[in-house]
Amino acid sequence: MSAGAEVELSRERSRTMTSTEEINSTITRPGSVKINVKGAFIVDPDTSTPAAGATNSSQGNGQGSPTHHETSDIRLPNHTAVVSHIAVDIGGSLIKLVYFSREVHSTDSGGRLNFQIFETDRIDDCVEFMKHLCDKQLELNGSKPGELCVMATGGGAYKFYDKIRDALGVDVLREDEMECLIIGLDFFITEIPREVFTYSETDPMHFVSPRERIYPYLLVNIGSGVSILKVDGPRSYQRVGGTSLGGGTLWGLLSLLTGAKNFDDMLEQAGHGDNANVDMLVGDIYGTDYGKIGLKSTTIASSFGKVFREKSLAEAAAGTKKKSASGGDTGSIKLGFSESDISRSLLYAVSNNIGQIAYLQSQIHNVSDIYFGGSFIRGHRQTMNTLSYGLKFWSKGEKQAYFLRHEGYLGAVGAFLKRQPKNWGRRNSLEGMEEILELRKGCKAKESAA
Ligand code: ADP
Repeated sequence: MSAGAEVELSRERSRTMTSTEEINSTITRPGSVKINVKGAFIVDPDTSTPAAGATNSSQGNGQGSPTHHETSDIRLPNHTAVVSHIAVDIGGSLIKLVYFSREVHSTDSGGRLNFQIFETDRIDDCVEFMKHLCDKQLELNGSKPGELCVMATGGGAYKFYDKIRDALGVDVLREDEMECLIIGLDFFITEIPREVFTYSETDPMHFVSPRERIYPYLLVNIGSGVSILKVDGPRSYQRVGGTSLGGGTLWGLLSLLTGAKNFDDMLEQAGHGDNANVDMLVGDIYGTDYGKIGLKSTTIASSFGKVFREKSLAEAAAGTKKKSASGGDTGSIKLGFSESDISRSLLYAVSNNIGQIAYLQSQIHNVSDIYFGGSFIRGHRQTMNTLSYGLKFWSKGEKQAYFLRHEGYLGAVGAFLKRQPKNWGRRNSLEGMEEILELRKGCKAKESAA
């Protein structure tokens, strides 16, 4: 064998062999069973260095600013083993895709987790993208053609199972949606610095350091609809409630009520709207606040409660004009509110409702940590403010709302992490321990022989 071939072979071995160190780390660091998360950090767009202060978030003041809409990659500088799978979470509105890639143009070791979304209606574009990943897999992650497999979760994992399998010609493994959400969330909470944060108007992105003791908590996942899960341990959870008034409701109704072309337009409009033009406030009814029961004059008494009156007034005014202008059509009616006002009002209505239900569930189940996930949040200030403020207000400061920078990817990351390389242990479990110990013995023997 030539020297070059030997080097290649040893490189190949070091890439594919599971070392004692990796197995030990599997046992001692539950949660890093497949990917080595040591030193993981969220990447600033277009760089491979930690975001400013990212490495010392536990010591620093933890502040940041919620500016993102694009989802940043997560760099895994110490992950060297081959990753031969991609994961998709196919929901009612969006497909979330997660895949691992090496640093192709860099001499750095490790790689990164990449995040991608598609509207579910564009499943064909997503399948095309997965095909592209399949074709490039050797270059991307070191796996061999034919080795790729797709981990799929969400309803679309069933609906589009045949489509994906036939188009890609690879194994598609389906995983339970709720379980994936929890696995993904646990991973973000325990392993990724500068991922989880609390929101307040004065400190809009206060990072919380990764921590080990996290249970019990409530996950309020706001996707097309809303699911609320109470989580007591890595595999111990129940869906305690939900509501059909979720992200799909906002998306759908605003597409009827405004000219916004996509969800980001809607959020942008909501950002500068004034809901007081549309909502009936306590002040509209009382002329002042209702201090006796703690309601400020700006509290929303009725979402969209002013619209009927406003519209009638505008129509009456237009009718008068019409008559005085010799019966000709005067064109559009001048309403006292804009599309932005409508967007803001509906965003508040949906978020307030979810915040209230989340609070009640947290009371019923005696839980004080509440994590909000799902693509609906999208790092939007008004949404986070409403959820966070509501929870704090109703619980008199006893409950805490947490948000995540990868809030939409909990399920996809969970599915990604569920891929179990043969003979590796499972998170927080002794399942497979005998095989692991056997494998470890074998590795030790091989290493000392070498
Ligand atoms: P699902 O799994 O049900 O698709 P997601 O967690 O992906 O749920 O959230 C879907 C919701 O996220 C949508 O209903 C909408 O409110 C919001 N959303 C965020 N970004 C987008 C986008 N680019 N296009 C459409 N909806 C979006």
